Amino acid sequence: MVCGYAEPVTFPVLGMVGGGQLARMTHEAGIPLGIRFRLLSDTPQDSAALVAPDVVVGDHRDLGTLRDFARGCDVITFDHEHVPTEHLRALEAEGVPVRPGPDALMHAQDKGVMRARLDSLGVPCPQHRIVRDPADVAAFASEVSGALTQADGGAGFPVPVVLKTVRGGYDGKGVWVVRNTAEAAEPFRAGVPVLAEEKVDFARELAANVVRSPHGQAVAYPVVESIQVDGVCDTVIAPAPGLPGHEAVQAQELALRIAQELDVVGHLAVELFETRDGRVLVNELAMRPHNSGHWTQDGAVTSQFANHVRAVLDLPLGDPRPRAKWTVMANVLGGDYPDMYSAYLHCMARDPQLKIHMYGKDVKPGRKIGHVNTYGDDLADVRERAAHAAGYLRGTITE
Ligand code: ADP
Repeated sequence: MVCGYAEPVTFPVLGMVGGGQLARMTHEAGIPLGIRFRLLSDTPQDSAALVAPDVVVGDHRDLGTLRDFARGCDVITFDHEHVPTEHLRALEAEGVPVRPGPDALMHAQDKGVMRARLDSLGVPCPQHRIVRDPADVAAFASEVSGALTQADGGAGFPVPVVLKTVRGGYDGKGVWVVRNTAEAAEPFRAGVPVLAEEKVDFARELAANVVRSPHGQAVAYPVVESIQVDGVCDTVIAPAPGLPGHEAVQAQELALRIAQELDVVGHLAVELFETRDGRVLVNELAMRPHNSGHWTQDGAVTSQFANHVRAVLDLPLGDPRPRAKWTVMANVLGGDYPDMYSAYLHCMARDPQLKIHMYGKDVKPGRKIGHVNTYGDDLADVRERAAHAAGYLRGTITE
């Protein structure tokens, strides 16, 4: 009598394009599952390339390199949005499982495509349109303000406008707040289409994170508050303090609907603005693990990284529920001191519950080089511990 599987099942090879910290932590999440990990990295010094067992160093914009890389993988997924959509279509046509697929991913690659699609789905977004030149931005500012005249004439726009290059931005790079035609000239220099948006006077920024598998199974994490400093994520609080239950559920349902309509596979972060009258507007989509989900490593039953791995391999998804009343994530940015290790003694002794995640990157001022997670029942205490550790590691707090 033969028991068990008819055919031997081998552990799959998960290929990830991009060697940043998201790949490093996705690799880490696959280790206990025995998943084999293959990485396409720009350089051998990239964060994930320093730890992954099977690294191909090459250019993700080159189809030949992508083809060679994919040959050794059962499925490929991404650490960033920068692989040309036509290359992904070519790989898919050749039978490579690409997750998320190009038809979904293009909404995270191109903010113009994303806005058009969300409009067609009736998803609330800031007022927006593609603009041709600074004069067109002035016209847009007038449309948004409802002003009768659109003269700039050095006096400036009636309302500030947010300009974004439709491709290639991250961490606030590729985003400008402009108040007159002179300032509006800069974004057009790159020669890529520019999206204009009303400058939303939001109460705070939220993120609704969900994960969806090819089977159509989906899970939603608690909605979090994300606090940005100079356009870079600084702190994430899970769950978002004071968010009424019905609003949290609405945001989760919105993210699940977007994931389904766009046929997203893997982790989807929906960045949101909460307006002062309690509405949510979608700012951005990211189809990969996301900074607003790093808290899940220590604060949820299944982390975003583990669920991304499960989703792209079409395994059943893990429980997204929180393990603590509050979890706070604080990013560690590079400061003036290149030596982080000496700070460990103080941080670990001060807070034995502190969870430190460093990315193995060289310290450069302002660069994201790690994050910390803290959790507990008292939000003020949990926030203080996270802020202290992140500040101490950076060197902005010295005691
Ligand atoms: P990136 O691709 O760099 O993440 P985002 O579109 O998320 O760019 O913008 C970065 C930050 O700029 C946001 O987190 C938010 O703080 C601010 N921002 C972006 N769009 C708007 C807007 N329409 N109104 C007000 N602030 C905005």
